[in-house]
Formats: sequence, structure tokens, C-alpha cells
Amino acid sequence: MPYDDQYQHETLMSNCECLLFDVDDTLYSRSSGLSEACTRNIEEYMSTELGLEKNEIPQLNRILYKEYGTSMAGLKAIGYDFDDDEYHSFVHGRLQYENLKPDPFLRNLLHSLPIRKVIFSNADKTHVSKVLSKLGLEDCFEQVICFETLNPKNTTPDREFNTNYASSNNEHGGGSIFPKTPIVCKPFEDAFQQAFKLANINPSRTVFFDDSTRNIETGKRMGLRTVLVGTSNQTTGADHALESIHNIKEALPDLFTASKEPKFNIHAGKVGIETSVTA
Ligand SMILES: [Mg+2]
Repeated sequence: MPYDDQYQHETLMSNCECLLFDVDDTLYSRSSGLSEACTRNIEEYMSTELGLEKNEIPQLNRILYKEYGTSMAGLKAIGYDFDDDEYHSFVHGRLQYENLKPDPFLRNLLHSLPIRKVIFSNADKTHVSKVLSKLGLEDCFEQVICFETLNPKNTTPDREFNTNYASSNNEHGGGSIFPKTPIVCKPFEDAFQQAFKLANINPSRTVFFDDSTRNIETGKRMGLRTVLVGTSNQTTGADHALESIHNIKEALPDLFTASKEPKFNIHAGKVGIETSVTA
């Protein structure tokens, strides 16, 4: 590592006050099969509930997911109107959560770091809660930012604000061929801005873990220290790449060394009372 990078790395680690985690395919392995099952459920929803042509669904779903971060955000962008809760219930309600096993190794690892830990997921709160419960990680995070947090009901003015904001920045899709979506989600910048505000996060003092290269790219642009999870191949915007979340200690040893020092923002059971707001 060049001297400047090494210096910046050590400075970040010695000032790290928050760890921000995605959930799906980040806190557990893709090999659980949950993601594939989720994709099948989404495609079934597109067929049975929205009446899309079966043979066109897989390709359309891939494009929407890639362009908008979630299939739901893409479907809403191209004009489908449906109830958010019913969609989430259909897509996640039948997942085999029993495939997820308690992960005491990760639990101990997280508890050994006296730094605030926050969840930042595009999924709905029921799904996030079930996953954390099955993994035995419910008590590892002081705050959960999820679909409902970013897209609260009965807040039309906020959504309009977000959409307008997006239009001037080519956010939420809205490029030459893709219309904008009203959904606030990663990888769009306003989702990160909202998360920073809601959890009182200073991005320059936060490490962000996610399995999506697009989320990592935005995270880096937003000033976070980024860790791509699920592969050892570093991509654009990733400061580190981990095959598994279990490898945090090997990849970021300074985080563990530094966190023993008392100057850190020790988990106080409250959100960011000692941190400054920069978002
Ligand atoms: Mg993920």
C-alpha cells in the first residue's frame, strides 16, 4: 500500500465511529439460496399479479434490478402500481428462512468491536428482522435503516422532493431511456444521504459493507470507506474486498487494534449522540 493510502487508511481506522452493513448476501452467504428464491418469487409476482408475459420476465427483471437497485423500484418506474406491503409479503413471505443458521462467529466478531453498527438494507423491515433473528444477530445493531425507513407511508411531499432531486442529478434512473422511480433505495445517492441523516452518520468516519458493486461505487462517492463482500476481487470504488464477512478481522486488522483504544465512540445504545452530522 502506498504511503499516502496507508496513512489515510490508518487515519480512518483510528477515527472509525460507525460500521454500516447491508443484509442480504452480505451478512450471510449467497449459497443459502435465499437470493435465488427471492428472484423466483419476484418473477412469479410479475407474472401472476402484474400480468407480464412469462418469457419476457427474466430479462426485464435483470434489467430493472441492474438499473434501479431493486426490481420493485424498476417496476414502479415503468408504471406498475401495486401495494408495497403486498409485494414484500409475496416476495419474502415464502422464503426458506430456516436455511439461515445462527452465526455465533459473526456475532462475537461484531460484539468485539465497540463501534456503532447500523443496518442499511433495501429490504422491508419484516425480512430484515427475520434474517437477523435467524442469524442470531438481533442484538448486534443499534439501528435498522430499511425500505420503510427510506419510504415512509403518507409522506408524498418527501417522495416528490426525492424525485425532483433525482431528476436534476440523473438519479433513480431517469437517464435517456429509463424513467425515474419514486422509490428511495440504494444505489441512489439520496438513499445514502437519508441514511446518514437518520443514523447520524459521518461518512468519512464510517466503513460500509455491501455485496453490490453499484452500492459500493455510490458509497465510495459519498465518502464512505467501502468493503465489497462476497468476492475477493476488488472492483471500482471498493477499498477492500472480502470473500466472506467472517474475514473482517483479516482484511481490517487496524479496526480491531484501534477499537481497543478508549477514544472511540463506544456503543451507547443511542443513535450517534457523540457524532457530528455532516450529511
Ligand atoms: Mg445485498
